[in-house]
Amino acid sequence: MATKENLKNLEKSLDSIILGVEILKKGIGYYVYYNKPNENTKAFKIHHSSCGNCAWGTGKIPGASPGLNGVWIGPFNSVAQATSFINENFSPFPGQIDECNCTK
Ligand SMILES: [Zn+2]
Repeated sequence: MATKENLKNLEKSLDSIILGVEILKKGIGYYVYYNKPNENTKAFKIHHSSCGNCAWGTGKIPGASPGLNGVWIGPFNSVAQATSFINENFSPFPGQIDECNCTK
């Protein structure tokens, strides 16, 4: 049986969980993967945070070193917003901006 102290501690931890959920919810949206080593040949690919490749901008490769080969940029509210960001901050060649099937 939980003690009064256990229950008070549980209530305190719920505040942390709620804060964590609110922070995670802010990560929902569209992300662009910027593939730095292959920036002249690979597309800027737009994904949704729920895509397995994106996983809320954390990527799919366990143990990958963030930023070593590229970075996830986002979240954006829409594909159009992500596309505008790429066009305004990079110089994509024609056809370099692509969308994963997860955005459809
Ligand atoms: Zn995707």
